[in-house]
Amino acid sequence: MEDCIFCKIIKGEIPSTKVYEDEEILGFKDINPAAPIHILVIPKKHIKSLVELEKEDEILIGKIYTVINKIAKDQGVKEKGYRVIVNCGKDGGQEVGHLHFHLLAGKPLGEKIV
Ligand code: AMP
Ligand code: ZN
Repeated sequence: MEDCIFCKIIKGEIPSTKVYEDEEILGFKDINPAAPIHILVIPKKHIKSLVELEKEDEILIGKIYTVINKIAKDQGVKEKGYRVIVNCGKDGGQEVGHLHFHLLAGKPLGEKIV
């Protein structure tokens, strides 16, 4: 947890461009954007990945989706649409071990995997 870059972003030890913040959730711009709008939305609680979710986290995860929708509205893409991706574990391509939701928008996002 001490070495977690997203926990450091939450604490302000690593700079980020924040677009949303409340007591439980932070949204900030991805440093290496894969689309014109690429925001990472994270719980402030250090949860490693989706596989680590506990029953008590269910309300928090629901709030994250509401926040994603609010950010999409603030960014002006709610009407055109957006994609939310959560990479989970090695095969899922997760590189940062702090649960994060990618919000991608601002252009047609190409081929769908599912
Ligand atoms: P994932 O591959 O799903 O674990 O995604 C990790 C994401 O975090 C990648 O899209 C990175 O570009 C992004 N990222 C890594 N370090 C930072 C940082 N310091 N600030 C913002 N985004 C970051
Ligand atoms: Zn963390």
